[in-house]
Amino acid sequence: MHFLMEHPWQCGDKDCAAPGGWHKSIWDANHEVEDAEDFPYLCSDFADGDWEPCTEEDMPTHEENIEAWREYFMWAAESGEDPLEEFFLIKYAEQRTEDWRLNFRDTGERIEVYGGLRDVGHYSPLPDDVLAWACAEREEDTGMYVLDPSLFEHPLTLGHLRFLAEDNDPNVQECFLEDNAHLVIVVSIDVRHDRDPEEIQAEIRAKAEKSILDLEA
Ligand SMILES: [Zn+2]
Repeated sequence: MHFLMEHPWQCGDKDCAAPGGWHKSIWDANHEVEDAEDFPYLCSDFADGDWEPCTEEDMPTHEENIEAWREYFMWAAESGEDPLEEFFLIKYAEQRTEDWRLNFRDTGERIEVYGGLRDVGHYSPLPDDVLAWACAEREEDTGMYVLDPSLFEHPLTLGHLRFLAEDNDPNVQECFLEDNAHLVIVVSIDVRHDRDPEEIQAEIRAKAEKSILDLEA
């Protein structure tokens, strides 16, 4: 969709949920014949599809529009935030398919999980997507990962888990009982990794600074 003008503005409302109080209005030609003579433009203050007829004087001039963008880009360059989502190439998270080697240990009272990337070979914190695959959760007080028995039919045993994994998930590569208390599963899982927030801020700052230069070009 192409509009006559997109114009960033700050509402100045201290209770505003938008970072920096930034909003973007969009402007278009008024095609309604009846009032188009008096109100040649339409404006949606919050770019939300709620259009108001406007006069020529209501609309920011080209210079005011450039200046508003300069202010927005300077704010973004300083804060590292992009509430108007102008720098749409920025990815906030990345997804990778990873092979995890998971160990399930039956303590007699519950089943604990620990593991790591197969190629790395040592244990590490388990990402949320791995925990979700294993139906496990992190115990607040011990930091251990344990299976949530409420998600399974009772009784929950390693043999039952092995059956569920081997027979139901084509991403399982290996699945074997080491002994009565230990089950090993190697499985490919799509894991979402949030990018380092400081890395994202640096990318937003760089793009905002380039946009300021582009305005002056
Ligand atoms: Zn606001």
